[in-house]
Amino acid sequence: MTTIGNIIDGKAVAESIREALKNEVAAMKAAHNVTPGLAVVLVGEDPASKVYVKNKGIACEKAGIRSVQHTLSADTSEESLLKLIKELNADKEVHGILVQLPLPKHINSDKILETIAPEKDSDGFHPYNVGRLMTGRPTFEPCTPLGVMKLIEASGIELSGKDAVIIGRSNIVGKPMAMMLLQKNATVSICHSKTKDLEKKVLAADVVVAAIGKAEFVKGSWIKEGAVVIDVGINRTAEGKLVGDVEYEAAKKRASFITPVPGGVGPMTIAMLLRNTVDAAARTIKKG
Ligand code: NAD
Repeated sequence: MTTIGNIIDGKAVAESIREALKNEVAAMKAAHNVTPGLAVVLVGEDPASKVYVKNKGIACEKAGIRSVQHTLSADTSEESLLKLIKELNADKEVHGILVQLPLPKHINSDKILETIAPEKDSDGFHPYNVGRLMTGRPTFEPCTPLGVMKLIEASGIELSGKDAVIIGRSNIVGKPMAMMLLQKNATVSICHSKTKDLEKKVLAADVVVAAIGKAEFVKGSWIKEGAVVIDVGINRTAEGKLVGDVEYEAAKKRASFITPVPGGVGPMTIAMLLRNTVDAAARTIKKG
């Protein structure tokens, strides 16, 4: 019999990863005199982006990673942003580069992401890294789905042969999530805004990953008894409460494992950004 209602504590898993990384960084400094460096580029004044960038900076500092923030005004030209990225690509002290999305409308995000050197692409969004993930030889993997995989692993959940349903097909979450689950031998369906009979598909799933961006969109009654529920969504209700894409209390009564919001996937994203940056620094040491 499957036990029901196990809560996956993302905060605790993320903290233990960050603690381990801190030791790794200290050892890297001692052995090679190399401090992993992350450059974070923020364009404009988006309040949510400012908070994310600030939190990333604090997390880097706690882990002993050198983080440098480049803040550009909202009317910065595409050309100046490209110039900055090329400078960061050439900077030996920078091992990871992150451009906070979304960018202002007059800037072509694809062009910017493709200009980041693939070996410094700590978000894993460059087509080269996307291709490596697709072919099962990943270098940098996108932080949020990678964090989901670590949570699944930490919870001892077996994926081989399981039916997984992902709701959402973004390049940041849904699509890379599908590749990672497939790599672990799950049978994966990607659902989206045009999918028919979503409820029926979710009801048949052993693993559900919700990455939609709509508060409590996935009803508890859609969850199969004993399914694993991973909620990537972060939504604020009219009352100011933070909720996921899944009706948490109702889903918890049916799921074997479930991630809460907040405290589930969210803390893992930053932990994986740190992981990717430290890995990038380790690869430069190895290359000599
Ligand atoms: P997105 O807007 O790029 O994609 C949303 C997806 O949901 C789309 O692919 C769309 O097809 C699908 N969708 C929309 N309406 C639907 C419907 N009615 N039925 C089925 N599918 C539908 O969003 P994203 O960037 O992938 O983010 C998704 C959510 O995850 C957001 O709430 C975002 O804030 C959150 N998020 C959290 C983290 C984290 O660190 N926890 C990181 C990234 C994104």
